Amino acid sequence: MKKTIEKKQQRRFFIYNMISFALIFLAFGFIIYFQVQNSLYSGVDRDLLRQAEIRGAIAGAGSSDETNRLKEPPVGELDKLPNPVSMPKGQGRFVPIEWDAQGDILNKDEIGTQLADELSSDFKLTTSKLETVQSVTLSSGSSFRYVVYKAPSIASTQVRYIQFISRVDAEKQLAENFGRILIICSISFWILSIFASYYLSQKAMSPILASWKKQTEFVANASHELRTPLTIIQNKLELLLTKPNERIIDQMEPIALSLSEIRHLTKMTSDLLLLSRADSNATMLTKEKVQLNHFIAEIIEPYQEIAASLDMKIWTNLESDAFAEIDPVRIQQLLVILLDNSLKYSSAGDSIGIITSVSEHHWQLEVRDTGQGIDKENREKIFERFYREEKSRNRETGGTGLGLSIAKWIVELHHGKMNVLENEPKGSIFQIRLPLK
Ligand code: ADP
Repeated sequence: MKKTIEKKQQRRFFIYNMISFALIFLAFGFIIYFQVQNSLYSGVDRDLLRQAEIRGAIAGAGSSDETNRLKEPPVGELDKLPNPVSMPKGQGRFVPIEWDAQGDILNKDEIGTQLADELSSDFKLTTSKLETVQSVTLSSGSSFRYVVYKAPSIASTQVRYIQFISRVDAEKQLAENFGRILIICSISFWILSIFASYYLSQKAMSPILASWKKQTEFVANASHELRTPLTIIQNKLELLLTKPNERIIDQMEPIALSLSEIRHLTKMTSDLLLLSRADSNATMLTKEKVQLNHFIAEIIEPYQEIAASLDMKIWTNLESDAFAEIDPVRIQQLLVILLDNSLKYSSAGDSIGIITSVSEHHWQLEVRDTGQGIDKENREKIFERFYREEKSRNRETGGTGLGLSIAKWIVELHHGKMNVLENEPKGSIFQIRLPLK
C-alpha cells in the first residue's frame, strides 16, 4: 500500500517534470528560432526598405502630387546598393517589378523570364499590405521577401504598383537547417533533463521517504507502547469494579500495579513530548558556565544511596576542575539517563564508574558499568527510538526505549559525540565528548 503511494507520487512528480521541461524547451526553441530567423532576414528587409526609400517610393507612395514622383536617390547612396538594372536579368538581390492595374508584370524583360514566369504563374499581387515586408514561397520552392508600394500616378505610364523583391533561398535554407538542429537538440536535452530530473527526484525523495518511514514507525511504536500500560490499567480497574465491597488494603496489588503503569505512562508521554519538540527544533539550549566536577558530583550524590540499596557501588574519577559552557538542565538529564540505565541493567555486586577528563577544547564524560553489557550488533540500534535489547525487555525495569534517543539528541544539541564501547571483562562504557565552549 505504502509502496504504491510512493510509486504514484513519483510517477506524478515525473510527469509534472516532463511537461514543465517540454514547455520550457518549447518556449526556448521558439524564441531562439524566431530570433535567428529575424536576424537572418533583417539585413534583407532593411535593404529592401532602404532601396525603396532611396528610390523615393515609400516617401511618395499613395500621393498623387506630381512633385512626389520617383525621386532621384541621394548622391552616392544608390552606389551602396546593388543596382537591379545593372545585374543579370532576374538575378539581382533587389529586383524592382512593375505591376499594372490588372495585376500583370510590365517589366518582364528587365527582370528576366524565369522570375517573371515563376511570379506570373504562382504569385498574386495583394495590395492590402503596402510598404511592409512580406514573404512568399512559390510552388517551385523559391522563397522571396518583398515590399510593395503604390507607384506615383504618372499619366504616361501604366505602372500602378512597384514591388521590390529579393530571393532569400539561402536564408530560408539556413533557417530551416537551424530549426532542424534546434529541434534535435531540444528533444535530446529534453530527454536528458527528464533523466536528470528523475535521478534528482529519486535523490530528493529518499530522505523525505526515510523520514516519513521513521515517522510512521514512530507513531506505530508509540501507540503500541502506550496501549500496553493502558490495557493493564483497564484490566486492573475492571477487576476492582467486580469487587465493590472489598477494602483497599485487600486490593493493594492491582492498585499498586496500576499506579506503576501510570507512572510509566507519564514518563513515556513526557519523553515523547520532548522528542517531538526535538524533531521540530523547538528546544533551545540555555547555556551557562559550569564548574564540571562540582556540578557532576552533585548529580551523582543521590544515586549513591540508590546504588547502595541495590547492593551496587558508584565510584568517581573527576579529574579536572575546569569550567564548561553547557545547558546544566540538559546535561543533568543526560547523566541521569545514563546512570539510570547503568543501574537498570546491572545486578547486585556490580559497580558503576563516572569519569571526567578535560583536553584543550573538549571535556569527556564516561559512564561505565559492569552490568549485562550490550551486544556488538545492537550498539548502533540502542539509540533508535523504542529500541530495547531482547534481554532488557525480560527485566522488570520499566524502560521506555526512549532514554538513549534523548541522550543522543542532547549531545548533538551541544555539538558533541557519543560512543558506546564494551567494558572489560563485562558491562558497557558510554563515552561523551563535548566542546568546552
Ligand atoms: P530504556 O528505557 O529501555 O532503558 P534506552 O533508550 O535508555 O531505553 O536504552 C535502550 C536499550 O539499550 C535498553 O533497553 C537496553 O537494552 C540498552 N542499554 C542501555 N543502557 C544500557 C546499559 N548501561 N547496559 C546494558 N544495556 C543498556
